[in-house]
Amino acid sequence: HLQITDVTKNFGSQAVLKGVNLSVAKGGTTAIVGPSGSGKTTLLRLIAGFEHPDTGTISLNGTTVAGDGAWLPAHKRQIGYVAQDGALFPHLTVGQNVAFGLNPAKLEGGRRAVAARVAELLEMVSLDAAMAKRRPHQLSGGQQQRVALARALAREPELMLLDEPFSALDAGLRVATRRAVAKVLAEAGVTTILVTHDQAEALSFADQVAVMRGGKLAQIGNPFVVYTRPADRATAEFLGDAV
Ligand code: ATP
Repeated sequence: HLQITDVTKNFGSQAVLKGVNLSVAKGGTTAIVGPSGSGKTTLLRLIAGFEHPDTGTISLNGTTVAGDGAWLPAHKRQIGYVAQDGALFPHLTVGQNVAFGLNPAKLEGGRRAVAARVAELLEMVSLDAAMAKRRPHQLSGGQQQRVALARALAREPELMLLDEPFSALDAGLRVATRRAVAKVLAEAGVTTILVTHDQAEALSFADQVAVMRGGKLAQIGNPFVVYTRPADRATAEFLGDAV
């Protein structure tokens, strides 16, 4: 369970998050939608532990990980994070990138066990196991995104943060990958937050949609309700544009 309470964040004189409150139930999936620059990525980075909130608290399963004097660094949070650009390690092969995410206990099975697990993870995101030997620059943008997803899944996170993870995929692959990833996350009971501009994605993936606007969550609710009964005109216009 993720609980965000009254979180604010400024960059210099710019107030980027202006009091964000959000609760995501264990195993639940929340889609965050909203205009460019509204603070979606900043919120994910705070949850991941890449930034400190100025005020407010973030707690995971009842433990405060940021705020109120508490701080749990990113690598100690059981969180998988897939950034917009994937951000693979360029000097490592695809297989090494995915293996990097593996729990050290899994590495004890030796090289063959690791290779088998890497192949399994690549298959989950519809990539051929033979890709493991390539370097990131030898992959298309969409393939790189899927490797980043596999690396995040390898961590077996309790909470998965996905920032436009399917944006570089063509329509067919986007649906297939989204389904595969949703299935893996659901089976493992992983709590998920997905930032997306894609209405169909929000509707099919999430049990809760949060609309971010100007550093605040303007509306939070059941996807169907948010899309059919937007709280105000600006939200209606934004969602209309997103169709
Ligand atoms: P998009 O949909 O375009 O990805 P977003 O909703 O994710 O947008 P953010 O990336 O969170 O928006 O950015 C919100 C605002 O904060 C922007 O005006 C951005 O320029 C600013 N910002 C983000 N990170 C920093 C930083 N490290 N230093 C200064 N300003 C920043």
